[in-house]
Amino acid sequence: MIIKPKVRGFICTTAHPDGCRALVKEQIDYVAAQPHAQGPKKVLVIGASMGYGLASRITAAYSFGAATLGVIFDKPASGSRTASSGWYNTAAFESFARADGLYARTVNGDAYLREIKKQVIDIIKADLGKVDMVVYSLAAPRRTAEDGTLYSSVLKTVGAPYTNKTIDLKNRAVSDITVEPATEEEIRATVKVMGGEDWKAWIDALKAADAIADNAVTVAYSYIGPSITHPMYADGSIGKAKDDLFAASKTITAEGIRAYISVNKALVTQSSAAIPIVPLYISILYKVMKAHGVHEGCIQQMYRLMNQKLYAGNPVVDEENRIRLDDLEMQEEIQSEVNDLWSTIATDNLDTHADLAGYDTDFYRLFGFGVEGIDYEADTDPEVAIPSLAANS
Ligand code: NAD
Repeated sequence: MIIKPKVRGFICTTAHPDGCRALVKEQIDYVAAQPHAQGPKKVLVIGASMGYGLASRITAAYSFGAATLGVIFDKPASGSRTASSGWYNTAAFESFARADGLYARTVNGDAYLREIKKQVIDIIKADLGKVDMVVYSLAAPRRTAEDGTLYSSVLKTVGAPYTNKTIDLKNRAVSDITVEPATEEEIRATVKVMGGEDWKAWIDALKAADAIADNAVTVAYSYIGPSITHPMYADGSIGKAKDDLFAASKTITAEGIRAYISVNKALVTQSSAAIPIVPLYISILYKVMKAHGVHEGCIQQMYRLMNQKLYAGNPVVDEENRIRLDDLEMQEEIQSEVNDLWSTIATDNLDTHADLAGYDTDFYRLFGFGVEGIDYEADTDPEVAIPSLAANS
């Protein structure tokens, strides 16, 4: 079929297998060309199919030659529907890794469930013995608990409503938006979905099965950002979940496995596109960081995390033991320019104040579109197998 983007709000319901494959290759080539530290050899990545998780998997494989086991929650193609881009990314990653002699297996299922944890542990025991790194990079809108209760996370403020600028990307218009405060119950549900409970449950399950090395490291990702985003993010319902994730890092460490929070840069991913106010901030940030030559994507961030922060001698952390990959984003001169642009940005000066083209390019690339060298008019087979899943079916 001819595969075109079908955008609905902040999601694209189609994905292009060849575009996704080319972008996975681009990330692999980037990492392979960099100098490498000595790192882990058996890495479990939970949330491995897109964004920061995919980039973590690629970095572990191509910096350290690590065997990687990925947990994803993606859909294969069916009838006239393409697969999800995470499916195509994973198929591509596995095929490149295997061709390069690297172990790569994937479990496709809901990472919150005990059954999926068991499947993963069985594979570790059979194939790897013990993992020496666990990356927890889930970004999920909801979680079904073992008792069947459905928890949905919300992107709202805590306490008071917050009004600031936002962008309607479809109509290219800047307007004010008021984000309402979450209820106590919504905050609790957001913490349940995006907090640290499930991260700790993974580590506990791995320890109970003797499937994690004593000297293993585990990392989960967070965001802080500048004050204009705080009511919406750091101090909002998602921020409460991130506080809980941070608390879990301390408990996991106290119980024997070194756990870190890495505070990453704001980037266009399927998850961040859904947050009010943040996409406008990101498109201004892109403009400023590109002008200063310090813009990075997921792969540059994850390369730096593993090679320069986590495994370059003693981990490089801030006073709260967090890894700061937002160091470039939060530089004073970057934030001061972003602030100036933010204060005057409006629909009629979007082109001079923000990098909307850069935002768009990154958004479409999440789904494999807009990639140089891909013939989007060509008849394309949407059915692509993930090698390790095909082998087991
Ligand atoms: P993403 O949407 O690109 O990736 C999320 C991954 O989680 C996908 O692979 C998805 O398939 C997987 N997933 C979702 N639900 C799942 C489930 N139930 N079971 C198994 N897998 C599931 O998101 P991202 O932006 O890379 O976010 C990853 C982490 O990084 C999150 O904790 C996020 O808060 C954090 N972070 C993101 C940004 C940003 O700007 N994007 C900045 C800092 C930190």
